[in-house]
Amino acid sequence: MPQLSIVVPVYNEAPNVEALVRELQATADRLPQSAEIVFVDDGSSDDTYALLVAAAGDDPRIHLLRLMRNFGQTAALAAGIDYASGEVIVTMDGDLQNDPADIPRLLAALDAGYDVVTGWRRDRKDPFLSRKLPSLIANAIIGATTNVSIHDHGCGLKAFRADVAKQLRLYGEMHRFVTAIAGDLGAAVTEIPVNHRPRLRGQSKYGISRTVRVVLDLLTIKFLSGFATRPIHVFGTFGLATMALGLAIVGVLGIEKIVFGMELAGRPLLLLGVLLVLGGVQLLTLGLLGEMLARTYHESQGKPIYRIREVRTPAVKKAI
Ligand code: UDP
Ligand code: MG
Repeated sequence: MPQLSIVVPVYNEAPNVEALVRELQATADRLPQSAEIVFVDDGSSDDTYALLVAAAGDDPRIHLLRLMRNFGQTAALAAGIDYASGEVIVTMDGDLQNDPADIPRLLAALDAGYDVVTGWRRDRKDPFLSRKLPSLIANAIIGATTNVSIHDHGCGLKAFRADVAKQLRLYGEMHRFVTAIAGDLGAAVTEIPVNHRPRLRGQSKYGISRTVRVVLDLLTIKFLSGFATRPIHVFGTFGLATMALGLAIVGVLGIEKIVFGMELAGRPLLLLGVLLVLGGVQLLTLGLLGEMLARTYHESQGKPIYRIREVRTPAVKKAI
């Protein structure tokens, strides 16, 4: 069993594959720890996989996982983390923007007692408007809404204790919130400044449209980490408040009508009161439904979010 697993998701990174493999081999050569390198080909439609196979040669440290189709960076990472057998798992982007030479410093921080160490791209080499600005805002919001306040949640270069990494349940595009999710699990999270390089070859896989998804994912995280086990508290509170207001309005109007004989026709307030009561009832029932779903959710886990087409381990390669 290796001491360290380096997990690298790659999707249509053909022009980067050769240099990537060489860089990682050089890093693994220098490390005192025994290491395996797990590449996860996320259903690339270019030559990425063939080039990986060629570049890996018969290096016994390199494992290639190939997903059935493009499942997205989060699922690719999850596949690599599930497959990894090291005591420590390092994740890294496969576009040469992260620098594997930073890995020893991440490992040193883990040794100092942290469960998760994430890179901080202090001098980030990405466009300002489409990348750095949205990410600045996102990091501020994540810091304010979760209990993990670090500068750079989005850095692909991270090191985990394997047991923490394997406990993360990742969905959608939640790889950006791994630090927040780990923090929610109770892990000790820290950051260290790392080198960041511009993308020289290949295309970035994300555009500005990711901002909306980040906001929605953040909402989900906040809900799941705060209220997943007690949805009735969120919906119920709103529901009861709405209903109380509605009942008060309807009550006052009722007294006016019955006691004082006032006309209710042409009173828009009546409509509001009825709407509030109905809305409140709906929120309450939604909360109860949520409670039932929460039980299913928590009791039926262990379903992977990916399907693997093929696994190439060193042993399999030797048999060929
Ligand atoms: N990636 C992936 N599946 C996807 C999209 C991206 O495995 O569906 C990989 C990609 O090959 C790269 C990493 O995730 O290794 C980060 O992607 P990218 O560099 O495009 O993101 P950016 O740096 O622009 O945020
Ligand atoms: Mg990149």
